Amino acid sequence: MGPVNVGLDIGATKTLGLVIDDAGEILAEVREATEPGTDGVVRTAARVVEALRAATGEPLTGTVGVGIPGLVDPPNGTVKHAVNLGLDGDWFPLGQALGERLGVRVVVENDVNAASLGAVKVCGEDDLVYLSIGTGLAAGLVLEGRLRRGDHGAAGEVGHIPVDPMGALCECGQRGCLETIASGSALASAWPSSGHVPPAQALFAAAQGGDEKAVAVRDEFAAGVASAIRVLALAVDPRTVVLGGGVAQLGEQLRVAVAGALQAQAASSPFLASLDLAGRLRVVPADYPVAAVGAALLGR
Ligand SMILES: [Zn+2]
Repeated sequence: MGPVNVGLDIGATKTLGLVIDDAGEILAEVREATEPGTDGVVRTAARVVEALRAATGEPLTGTVGVGIPGLVDPPNGTVKHAVNLGLDGDWFPLGQALGERLGVRVVVENDVNAASLGAVKVCGEDDLVYLSIGTGLAAGLVLEGRLRRGDHGAAGEVGHIPVDPMGALCECGQRGCLETIASGSALASAWPSSGHVPPAQALFAAAQGGDEKAVAVRDEFAAGVASAIRVLALAVDPRTVVLGGGVAQLGEQLRVAVAGALQAQAASSPFLASLDLAGRLRVVPADYPVAAVGAALLGR
């Protein structure tokens, strides 16, 4: 086996690990339910790497890249505010703890930032904004080939741009943030689904079937995503905008809805229309593990 890289995407429900070769080809993939808390997260991550070692028959002694939600300090490999993982205390030295356990170097990055590097790989474009529409709404910025984290790690936090003074109270303490309109959780409260169909799929299917209320909810959601893209595009003007996160499992129907909303917003503005934001939109291929791939690339 030639040079390989190991990447982990640690999420609240599952931890996904993979091994990629230099061409970005996925050689092995493992997923495990994430145990919460500092010990649980480290134990789960270590178990995933051991499973990858078993699957490939390789010692995998190179750097392990980790993407994780929350506030991450990459130079120190520390994380905090990953509340859904039970990491809500002080800075936790994840890189050091996992590195000692596995006997390898571990680098840690915010999961959306890691995913934006994965998006670079899958799109073959190195100037892009990756918009993650998951439980929350956040963007990763790779500008002219470089990841922009921001001085306080807050670059791309468009989910907390307030757009509606009369809107819902956001968990960040502001009112009417984009995240309260254009996120998986906003969509789930606007269109609660029962059974096994995720709310996004249920909503888009109902809208497709002609349900007027579903059409209105879908269009409001798409307009919110379009507003986030407009803010990002006018701030940094990326060549490509990539939609990812759980809601992006909708695939092409999400791209079409958001492109339509972008065109509607540009209808009265020759300036906005000339920027062709709709034409820059792409969606991560279904089931492509974009954050884990990006995490693996951190080790290079
Ligand atoms: Zn907010």
